[in-house]
Amino acid sequence: MNKHHIDADFSILERYNLTEKDLIKGVICESCKGNQVFRRHGMWICPQCQLSSKKAHIPALRDYFYLLGSTITNRQLRDFLNISSSSSATRILQSLNLTSRGTNKGKGVQPFFDE
Ligand SMILES: [Zn+2]
Repeated sequence: MNKHHIDADFSILERYNLTEKDLIKGVICESCKGNQVFRRHGMWICPQCQLSSKKAHIPALRDYFYLLGSTITNRQLRDFLNISSSSSATRILQSLNLTSRGTNKGKGVQPFFDE
């Protein structure tokens, strides 16, 4: 039987001897790099260069799914992107075109955007 899915989960972190705590959390500005953007009224805004973006979280989430596994819950997303509002997190999750795994909210969702 061929294995179609690549189980990247955790092996990359292990290979580089990293833990989840070593990852940089939050959303980084695409323009000036290194600066964390904050979320306001559905937009990510950079305090340094004022760049605003609706999709600044996509690269961060790609890293998340690449490094930490194939699912994410609302709480994990808030933690990883440094956002406090669960309704913002829900909107982000919905915008990613994710599919729910099971019917329980706590089970997490799987990304489609890498396929
Ligand atoms: Zn910036």
